[in-house]
Amino acid sequence: MSTVRIDCELAIIGNGDSIKDASIVYENSKIIYAGEQEHSPESANVIQTKVVTPGFWDSHDHYFGLRKFEYEERFIDPKIKFMRCAWDTKETLLAGVTSVREVGGFGLLLKQSIQEGTITGPRIYAAGSMISMTGGHGDSHSLPAEVFQHFSEKDLIANPIADGVADCLKLVRTHIRSGAEVIKYAASGGVMSEIDPPQYQQYSSEEQHAIVGEAARSEVSVAAHCYGEIGIKTALESGVKTIEHGTYLTEDLCDLMIEKDAILVPTVYTYKGLFDTPEAKDNLPEYGYTKGQLILKTHMTMLKMAVKRGVKIAMGTDIIVTGEYHPIYKHGDNLRELSYLVEGGMTPMAAIISGTQNGPLTLGKRAPKSGLLQTGYDADIVLLHKNPLDDIAVLINRENIQSVIKQGITY
Ligand SMILES: [Zn+2]
Repeated sequence: MSTVRIDCELAIIGNGDSIKDASIVYENSKIIYAGEQEHSPESANVIQTKVVTPGFWDSHDHYFGLRKFEYEERFIDPKIKFMRCAWDTKETLLAGVTSVREVGGFGLLLKQSIQEGTITGPRIYAAGSMISMTGGHGDSHSLPAEVFQHFSEKDLIANPIADGVADCLKLVRTHIRSGAEVIKYAASGGVMSEIDPPQYQQYSSEEQHAIVGEAARSEVSVAAHCYGEIGIKTALESGVKTIEHGTYLTEDLCDLMIEKDAILVPTVYTYKGLFDTPEAKDNLPEYGYTKGQLILKTHMTMLKMAVKRGVKIAMGTDIIVTGEYHPIYKHGDNLRELSYLVEGGMTPMAAIISGTQNGPLTLGKRAPKSGLLQTGYDADIVLLHKNPLDDIAVLINRENIQSVIKQGITY
């Protein structure tokens, strides 16, 4: 394939730098030049645009294929749910998100379907399903345990249960055997689960060390779903790379995150889109609605503290639904999270860094060369008619996107 050159008024590199009157040149799936236009190599294919950014990373997404939250929905044949996700992956990509760290859902299978060209979507780095303890965030508390056990063996997206070090090791190994590029476990209670308050720690320190240690032997990083203070502390001491959600972070824990070079994925979008709407009460089960309101009270204050304190943050949405059943909560709207990060005290440039450069860092030692407009990196590029540094909301409106390039292919 010959090269393609993009000439633009402004190139936002992804690491905080930007270049005026720039050219980005790529060959096949890799960038071979990113710099000033006057020094750029020639190309027979030149595209003009106003602004370019790297393709974005959603570092906390889910492809579950669930329209609603009732149990009946969960019992629908997994093949139907899987097919629904084709809409979600396509919308994600067209929104400018070229990479997704999928921390629970059909990601492993979707990744292959996308790579084979059967469906359209971002490059997926998947965890498989989240590892949870009995009665934990991944359990379905009102089902008889045997029913849940049966269900989780049949349904590819149900969270498997592991208790004790031996079971935890086995599950991590099983996930890595399935191709997981990140491991996710629940280190605290959750919101969309019935009887486990988000503040409470889940898994002992011993179990958490076992999970992280086993993953580390394969250089796989670990994401801890975590709200409460003690759970966050234990997860960080166990060596997790990312804290997902993090609502009850304290200043001391922010400092510990910086010391450990851990990354916060605050997933504001899901709290705003799912819990902070007039329809929330009708759309959600009562336990989810009640817990969601509690999180909403503190989450933005926590984010402002973390931003001010200098915690490294990666953009992630935590979208748990499929299709267009929730008007302001759906795949394809992923970059709305950047506006919430700005609301949390970031500059537009810092928010863009969290959605580009910081994305691959959530994969630790397995971080791919992605998220930056630099030589040798994946040719993942978003071409824009407007400048998101003037107004980050530019990225929410699809009309502002000229095209999205993923690994050298234009969408
Ligand atoms: Zn999630």
